Amino acid sequence: MIDICVNLMHQQFDKDRLEVLVRAKSSGVQGILLCADTLDTAEENLKFINETNTRENPSLPELLTTAGTHPHEASQWRNDDKDRLRCLLKETSISAIGECGLDFYRDISPSEKQIVCFQEQVEIACKERIPLFVHDRDSESLTNQILKSQKALPPTVIHCFTGTEKELHEHLDLGCYIGITGWITDPTRGQTLRKVVSDIPLNKMLIETDAPFLAPKRSALEEKHFALPVSFRSSRNEPSFLPLISSFLANELQLETTELLEQTTQNAIDFFGFTKIGAN
Ligand SMILES: [Zn+2]
Repeated sequence: MIDICVNLMHQQFDKDRLEVLVRAKSSGVQGILLCADTLDTAEENLKFINETNTRENPSLPELLTTAGTHPHEASQWRNDDKDRLRCLLKETSISAIGECGLDFYRDISPSEKQIVCFQEQVEIACKERIPLFVHDRDSESLTNQILKSQKALPPTVIHCFTGTEKELHEHLDLGCYIGITGWITDPTRGQTLRKVVSDIPLNKMLIETDAPFLAPKRSALEEKHFALPVSFRSSRNEPSFLPLISSFLANELQLETTELLEQTTQNAIDFFGFTKIGAN
């Protein structure tokens, strides 16, 4: 299985970054897409990938990374960042532009800045034909309008989908993939997601932890009698918890977990270009 969103450079992993990865691999996570919220983070991810030589180390998952500027960081986005991003895309371990998008829920950067920052990254992705990794929260369909204005989108994923049924169908009409996190286990916040998740075709579904954020809810997992690993913490999510999220999701979809994992792993390989992983 492949986790398509881990914020590995987050300070919550400062003390045990490598152990987190070893635990992920032994729990069955063969590949991880590291997420970047700024171009600096993308460079840190890249350095980490090169230094740990994860492709050649059998005790670690294969690592790739995104490069881009998150809507929260949009006020930092400068004109010369377009060149800096284009330059980063030459690295083989960078397999998508992102996280980019709109977040009007928190509005940490002014909305006009978010729109410009997103639009410019979408244009680069379309021109360079590199996948887009999109963060969308409470944008009232503006994210979709920006994506729709392009003639031909590259493969695009709406990660950590938490929107409405209407938004979901707009994303699917644009051909987007949809990323599902442990949000689905949340008794209250996950209600809408649980209602609409079966509308997502399996060949458009990707799974992710968004670690260290969004740890799956202990009460919901216990209710389904899932065995929690000794390393389980509600305070910090990590990629080794992805098997719990996928079992919970498979249960919601009334599928065997193996069937869900086979298809979502193949989707992630096709989408991001993981090379060392045979679907299993
Ligand atoms: Zn995000």
